[in-house]
Amino acid sequence: MSENSTELSLEQVLERARMRDPHQPEFHQALHEVLQWVVPFAASRPVYNHPALFSKLTEPERIIQFRVPWTDDDGQEHISRGYRVQFSSVIGPCKGGLRFHPSVNLSVLKFLAFEQVFKNSLTGLPMGGAKGGADFSPKGRSDAEIMRFCQSFMTGLYNHIGPETDIPAGDIGVGSREIGYLFGQYRRITGTFSGVLTGKGEAFGGSILRPEATGYGLLYFTKEMLDAAGKQMDGIRVLISGSGNVAQFACRKAIEMGAKVLSMSDSDGYIFKEEGLTDEDLDFIMELKNEKRGRIKACQEAFACSWYEGTPWRHGAKAGLALPCATQNELDADDARTLIENGLLAVAEGANMPCTEKAVKLFHKHQIPFAPGKAANAGGVSVSGLEMSQNSIRMSWSAERVDDELHRIMHDIHEKCRSFGETDGSINYEKGAAIAGFIKVADAMIAQGHV
Ligand code: NDP
Repeated sequence: MSENSTELSLEQVLERARMRDPHQPEFHQALHEVLQWVVPFAASRPVYNHPALFSKLTEPERIIQFRVPWTDDDGQEHISRGYRVQFSSVIGPCKGGLRFHPSVNLSVLKFLAFEQVFKNSLTGLPMGGAKGGADFSPKGRSDAEIMRFCQSFMTGLYNHIGPETDIPAGDIGVGSREIGYLFGQYRRITGTFSGVLTGKGEAFGGSILRPEATGYGLLYFTKEMLDAAGKQMDGIRVLISGSGNVAQFACRKAIEMGAKVLSMSDSDGYIFKEEGLTDEDLDFIMELKNEKRGRIKACQEAFACSWYEGTPWRHGAKAGLALPCATQNELDADDARTLIENGLLAVAEGANMPCTEKAVKLFHKHQIPFAPGKAANAGGVSVSGLEMSQNSIRMSWSAERVDDELHRIMHDIHEKCRSFGETDGSINYEKGAAIAGFIKVADAMIAQGHV
């Protein structure tokens, strides 16, 4: 698509992105998932019907790539690659997590940052979208190695972030321990104590309920979805994947709401418990994953459950709800078919883009309510936004206040999805979230001129 083209077409927008960066499949997938709904909407409205607006929307403002040298406990020197993709600061300073995982590359980070722009817009808070990280695997590394890595990573990044410009948070492989080390190094290098990261410990400016926020928010959103479809949360059988931050608190809230959580997983396999996991089982899993950094398979020796290789989706268990909370593209079309055959009522993405496009198509075809991550998992970044507010005014809010705000934000996101995604009594959450997220960002872009 030329810059001067006057015709807005989905294929041309996507073709331009494919031509510019041919080796970024995850980014192209994320573009298609959003723009398939947004482009037809924009094409019918003169104010948005401009190809140049879409060139801007799909091109990051800035990408920073840097070398991260670190030394392991045996004295071996390593070089990892660090990144920060600042996709859009048009509605607020850039905001989005950092991921430490061997699969991190520009395609993955551009997809995550692009999604983050729409997600942050949906929250109603003044936050632009970004994502960053490194192709470093924290698995099996000692505490001292993690600390040295975080310090070196922040040394490469600190000059490009700040409380008014870009405020990173955690993601896969970056939890409260890593955020603590990153914050410490930022404070040391800059000599400032500021709200430059969210997900901090409560003792140094973190918000209460930030660790819980993504998982809890996911369940608040899911309850709204089930209510809208006339279905009950109480007693529903749930399959959860992952056993990290999002999965743990999704499981906790699901149990509290009366659901029966049948599974959790890690990258080796999954555990399955027909009677449903208890709070005590979850306590064990949290200690195993957060303190001992062990594998989910070890649950077999601790309580009555079975362990299998693979993901929980093809287990063949009767389940009404699927909450994928591990990673992108972890639930494919075959998984979707198995879930549908076994009584699936709704799917809500705790992870970012965990369902493949073919899987999502099947959910739509069978009229199964499907909530994309940018809506369903927005609770985490929302409470990060609240952490920024608390840091700015140097106050800490109570758990009750933060939880009330989280409830309100998830309810508002559900209403936005309904406003733009409802036809004939059923809600297309993918369409509603994409269009509602787009409008705020596009309006701000138009108002701010060609910058
Ligand atoms: P964690 O690192 O805490 O946990 C990730 C979990 O997913 C672990 O159980 C991990 O298993 C599993 N996992 C990671 N990669 C793979 C893979 N390739 N195949 C199978 N399992 C895998 O991350 P989070 O819980 O923070 O994040 C999970 C998802 O939620 C991500 O998509 C993230 O972008 C998204 N998200 C997170 C938010 C947050 O606030 N943390 C906010 C919004 C979205 P193992 O231990 O074996 O690596």
